[in-house]
Amino acid sequence: MKILFGRIGYETNTFAPGTADLDRWAPNGLLMGDDIFTQFRNTPDYLGGMIRAAEDHAVELIPGVAVHDIAGPKLTTEAVEFVVGELVRIADARRGEYAGICMMLHGAGCAENTDDLEAYTLERLREVVGPDMPITAALDLHGNITPQMVELSNGLFGCKLYPHTDMAEAGYLAMKTLIGMLRGEVPPQTALVQLPLLVFKMGQTSVEPLKSVTAYIADYVDQHHLIDATFFQGFAAADVPSVGASVVVVAENGAAEAASEIAKYIWDIRGHMKADDFPMPDAAVDLALAELNKPGGGYIVINETSDNAGGGAPGDGTHLLREILTRNLPKAIFGYMYDPEIAALAHEVGVGGKVSGLLGAKTDELHGTPIELRDATVCALSNGNAIYVTPMYAQVPVSYGKTARLRVGNVEIIVTQNLYDQTYDDRPFLLTGADITQYHIICVKSAVHFRAFFESRAKAIVTTDPPGLTTGKMAAYSWHRARRPIYPIDLDTAFDPLSARHH
Ligand SMILES: [Zn+2]
Repeated sequence: MKILFGRIGYETNTFAPGTADLDRWAPNGLLMGDDIFTQFRNTPDYLGGMIRAAEDHAVELIPGVAVHDIAGPKLTTEAVEFVVGELVRIADARRGEYAGICMMLHGAGCAENTDDLEAYTLERLREVVGPDMPITAALDLHGNITPQMVELSNGLFGCKLYPHTDMAEAGYLAMKTLIGMLRGEVPPQTALVQLPLLVFKMGQTSVEPLKSVTAYIADYVDQHHLIDATFFQGFAAADVPSVGASVVVVAENGAAEAASEIAKYIWDIRGHMKADDFPMPDAAVDLALAELNKPGGGYIVINETSDNAGGGAPGDGTHLLREILTRNLPKAIFGYMYDPEIAALAHEVGVGGKVSGLLGAKTDELHGTPIELRDATVCALSNGNAIYVTPMYAQVPVSYGKTARLRVGNVEIIVTQNLYDQTYDDRPFLLTGADITQYHIICVKSAVHFRAFFESRAKAIVTTDPPGLTTGKMAAYSWHRARRPIYPIDLDTAFDPLSARHH
């Protein structure tokens, strides 16, 4: 028995200006064939889990296409047609060889030609394989889940943790459940309850209220012998009708009742999911210095949550960097700033050379104004190729392109040619020879995922939230197409999870 599998992930911040073409979505090209196994086998990625499940159950996999789920503005139609088109071409060419399909789909993809990249992908696959072939999908917990995704698939399996350190488990379960179906087990039911709820709380599952939610659902799954249940936090920076949180249950029976009960538990504590109020950079730096001055060694991480490339922000914002430079903080390092022009300039002048020019804030005005570099020293250069060490992506390669470490006064800045997601670990620093344990203040652009690496290592973490496309401040967003009423935009939203429509 063979199964076709692949990965088409993208998280669309519809508030981000412009569109993302194929070069942005897949800067290193589409991964196909044996390269998919080489890149993902034994990794904590969804596909690592899928491959392991297939090997554990002696099933042969046929590779489709794989693209890492970065975030950004809407995808162009051309990019979607190319990526989905390649998958469909393979599905068609190998038709008759495979008995089922297992995909990683993000859940919050939008493009010029669709608000629902996941349903679109499943629909295109169904055109090739028909309505009856079992298809399961693993999803990111930031997916805005739609009834169409449920109808077009035979099981949706979300990761449960944020940072997403359990992606492989979601991939494993999606694959294992599919194999069970193909070997004659009862096909599971999938139930969806879309909550009228936008989650703004940064959503970390190791702190309340989501710590309790995560534990509650895990217990519920055990007690009720469900195959799986996921609370999808959704992705609020998306002005689409499906924006918002949801509960998905996969079970042999009783899926609808279970989804309702879990949705009720979450709805009842919705008041705890309102936005966090993180300080602006000046106050955040004060907090960081206070932490630094407490007894004990170690560095402080300041994360600029509002310029998180992992949520579609440009990654070149200057709000936090300007504050660090103004204070000329000793032993401070910033990693990383996306600026291909400055990175190229640094590579031109070489190590020890000087760079002058405008750094950052070249994408839009929301994320600050460019910083004027005058004779910044080039400390080190790199080709930007690294292997992640974060528990989320250990052993997966990453390419920052031409990378430079610059020095401005006391402050060092990592500048990269590529915008390749948020900072997950110390690799952007180490590429240029910077050992972060030798610094006092480490600045990163990330909301939560950086914690998978830094939480256990940093003396303290301070979050700052200046204006940006991934801010946690609800007032910064204007939805026109969201389903209404929706909490907490509409504070008096009435909702009865127990009688909610199921799909
Ligand atoms: Zn996510």
